[in-house]
Amino acid sequence: MQELNNIYCSFCGRKQCDDLKFIASPSGSTFICNDCVKICENILLEENSKIEKIKLPYPSEIKSHLDNYVVGQDDAKKSLSVAVYNHYKRLNYNEVNKKKKDCVKIDKSNVLLIGPTGSGKTLLAKTLAQFLQVPFAQADATTLTEAGYVGEDVESILSKLLQNAGGDVKKAEKGIVYIDEIDKIAKKSENRNLPKDPSGEGVQQGLLKIIEGTIANVPVSNKKHPFQETVAINTNNILFICGGAFVGLDKIVEDRVSKKSLGFNSKNKDSNQNEKIRPQDLIQFGLIPEFVGRLPVISSLNKLTNEELVRILTEPKNSLVKQYKELFKMDGIDFSVDVTALNEIAKKANELKSGARGLRSVFEETMLDTMYSVPRNTNIKSILLSTNEIPTNDVFLIKYDNTNVKSVQN
Ligand code: ADP
Repeated sequence: MQELNNIYCSFCGRKQCDDLKFIASPSGSTFICNDCVKICENILLEENSKIEKIKLPYPSEIKSHLDNYVVGQDDAKKSLSVAVYNHYKRLNYNEVNKKKKDCVKIDKSNVLLIGPTGSGKTLLAKTLAQFLQVPFAQADATTLTEAGYVGEDVESILSKLLQNAGGDVKKAEKGIVYIDEIDKIAKKSENRNLPKDPSGEGVQQGLLKIIEGTIANVPVSNKKHPFQETVAINTNNILFICGGAFVGLDKIVEDRVSKKSLGFNSKNKDSNQNEKIRPQDLIQFGLIPEFVGRLPVISSLNKLTNEELVRILTEPKNSLVKQYKELFKMDGIDFSVDVTALNEIAKKANELKSGARGLRSVFEETMLDTMYSVPRNTNIKSILLSTNEIPTNDVFLIKYDNTNVKSVQN
């Protein structure tokens, strides 16, 4: 046993004094001072906080959340729920096992959503990120060009993600990125013989790097990093969801299926519709094989039917009809739309060929005059949007007849 006035901390080397408390090892031969205990405690706390798992709902819970906001598209919702569940399970697994050398490495599964414009691809990705409370960024592949060419380079997508994560790199590294119009960067047949294709294959090569996982140097400008021009972001755990309409892909699938079924056992043509899109179809469309290889989960969205458009107008938590009801409520007016008008609006929106995106413009156009004049008219207590003439005493009827909208006050 050492004499009490001859004790030194084995960590910082300081000598026993009145300001320091010393703890002896079980053998009594070494000591640690209270300051060093505090430092060790902080190091351990910091280590533990790094293993910050994302609270992971089950695939069925993810799907039911999506059901609240996205109408139809059941197959896409299901496969996306499973893909997202596996992605974050992998992320949690890798966090916990990162120090173990012999654990199985689970690969990342990015997602490709194929479906017409306005069918809910972006909405699905955004709703997922909100539910999981992870940062989200959206980019349009057509604005990207290969590094060194005029236009945005692929790292700009990560800048947006970092910005939406409030500059927190760790948070951004667990976020979701949605890249729209991915079909527009397919190699065009007329460019296939060119040595350089900065807006097609060049962008695919650039995206490939960040999608498969890399340390990217991302330009930043925010309060947290005022003096840094770039920040390193590891994209290994970022979930990339790519989307596109892929016009003409159905023909490629059809040709493949009919070639396969030529001769005996020839299938009925209708069965092509249920035929799964294969990686080889996407390669034939103009995506490079390495890029397709990084998007192992492929899911299709359908063109929305009139019935589904009607449901979109009324069912989701923040549907247009619910929003307008709230707006009118602020003026003390009860607003409703009957089924005849809902059907007409859906029909007109479908004619615009922009999916559910057309609903807002048709609806807003319909409501403009009413929204303009009604707030000053204190006699109106309720408003009904209908294609029928329903004469009632206190209802301000907006007559909707597909070609024009007439306001009829009773
Ligand atoms: P896409 O990315 O497929 O082109 P979006 O997801 O951006 O289409 O859809 C545009 C808007 O249309 C969304 O913000 C949403 O209001 C509405 N919408 C589209 N599809 C659906 C759907 N299946 N269910 C509910 N709303 C939808």
